[in-house]
Amino acid sequence: MVKVKVVERPPADLVVQSWLPELWKGMKVTGRHFFVNLLTRKGIVTSQYPEEKRQYPPRYRGKHRLMLREDGTARCVACFMCSTACPADCIRIVAGERPDENEKFPAVFEVDFIKCVFCGLCEEACPCDAIRLDSGVHRAPAYTRAEELNGKEDLLSLGGISVSRQGGEFK
Ligand code: SF4
Ligand code: SF4
Repeated sequence: MVKVKVVERPPADLVVQSWLPELWKGMKVTGRHFFVNLLTRKGIVTSQYPEEKRQYPPRYRGKHRLMLREDGTARCVACFMCSTACPADCIRIVAGERPDENEKFPAVFEVDFIKCVFCGLCEEACPCDAIRLDSGVHRAPAYTRAEELNGKEDLLSLGGISVSRQGGEFK
């Protein structure tokens, strides 16, 4: 058998029905926070972005960047491992042949940031340290879908030189 506890309601007299005591209690809390914040700025968690930039944590995944070899060319060998690992299917690569070596290069490398979820799986999958998300650049929203599509030159412009061994360990 289900036991039911009946809770008595307080009498809804004129004072309760006017809401004035409860309004007054609420205004006191709001007023206290307003004046404490205004006069002491203690415990304010709101950042005045963009004037005040927050420090990103060391493992923050920012906008992608394509890394370079010491000769300034892209480290990427168009192996498609990043695009295969990408759960959002937002990396498009078209491979080209490097004339000097037995390697490929990305003739096209695009990331569609409207689909990207910044999971970092592309970075994890890459055997060449060719793609990283450690740029520290916060991806700003764009107005059009076309602006969300970032190409190779844009991604290379953020890249630095990596001296890790192609296809293997870091030096
Ligand atoms: S961060 Fe994740 S979703 Fe974005 S491109 Fe890389 S693998 Fe795809
Ligand atoms: S996994 Fe690395 S080397 Fe392979 S296509 Fe992606 S960025 Fe280029």
